[in-house]
Amino acid sequence: MSGDFIPVANPGATIAPFLSEIQAAMERVLRGGRFVLGPEVDSFEEEFATACGASHCVSVANGTDAVELALRAVGVEPGDEVITVANTVTATISAITAIGAKPSFVEIDPLTFGMSTDALAQRLRTKPAKAIVPVHLYGHPVDMATVCALAQEHGAKVVEDCAQAVGAAWQGRQVGTWGDAAAFSFYPTKNLGCLGDGGAVLTRHRDVADRLRSLRQYGWAERYVSQTPGRNSRLDELQAAILRTLLPRLPDFNQRRREIAHRYHERLAGSPFALPSETPDARAVYHQVVIRTVQRDTLREHLQQSGIGTAVLYPVPIHRQPGHAQVSVSLPVTETAAQELLCLPIYPGLTDETVDRVAAAILSWTAAV
Ligand SMILES: *Cc1c(COP(=O)(O)O)cnc(C)c1O
Repeated sequence: MSGDFIPVANPGATIAPFLSEIQAAMERVLRGGRFVLGPEVDSFEEEFATACGASHCVSVANGTDAVELALRAVGVEPGDEVITVANTVTATISAITAIGAKPSFVEIDPLTFGMSTDALAQRLRTKPAKAIVPVHLYGHPVDMATVCALAQEHGAKVVEDCAQAVGAAWQGRQVGTWGDAAAFSFYPTKNLGCLGDGGAVLTRHRDVADRLRSLRQYGWAERYVSQTPGRNSRLDELQAAILRTLLPRLPDFNQRRREIAHRYHERLAGSPFALPSETPDARAVYHQVVIRTVQRDTLREHLQQSGIGTAVLYPVPIHRQPGHAQVSVSLPVTETAAQELLCLPIYPGLTDETVDRVAAAILSWTAAV
């Protein structure tokens, strides 16, 4: 084993070049004396909306709340069906079930692992749904032109789960601007991360934004007077100030992630690992870079012993998890992917040499088996 252990994600390394700026931003908050929903949050919401090309941004406490509150704000109610995928973080589904709505899973595209629009079309023809939640998994954009056309045809709302895909685009238009609303997470390992929990919803509808502002703070329409039960899901000033420091770097972070992914693709070209490719319409931001092999667990063990961290996202499809089981549902493409996908180290501070070391370790294992 040569060199230090290579983690699969490394938020500390990502922010390391900006520590003095982050400290200055935090200092600004400490001296300003406003700590929740103040001027930093207002400015961040404006700057984030502008960066993504959206009309309105409402920040919330985390990405899970962002999905839930976005669904509530577009009108999803208890008992409604919400179509999504089973290869996502459980948070996507917790957000749906927290409302009392019912997740309905469709199959994924075997190349990008995002929602299959053929499966979506078929599902909508058999049964209506109140909303669709495409998940831009691993930073790969779902075909939003088709999702939105199908949604319109069948009268469903679209809430994009953009937690892994801030800055990704489909046909040149950023994710988060296609649907009726879009949810983002600023968990530290995401492409744009804060130093705690944070999230946001983008929308082009003013009424949806107004409902979100009320929902995130006790259902207030005016101070101390609730129009709906509401809840507390606010972003704090410290996280907003930190996010404002990092947001201008997001294009560089994403560009570096793309370079790293392309380098992996080059180094592993010709090996038996199918890597998801970008179609001409897609601009991926590689929250994860994944490879695929039937011997995933042995490869993972080999890499671990070579000092290389990997992740399995996600090992058990949602419809097979005890907390969300839907025993009658069968999704062969999703179930196979859960057994075969492996996420390799990727973060903006990862060097070319380290990428080459990881690729070499994979190739040496391939040669040996
Ligand atoms: C991280 C993530 C979430 C949840 O975000 P939190 O901030 O952890 O609540 C939701 N969906 C996807 C696809 C995610 O990756």
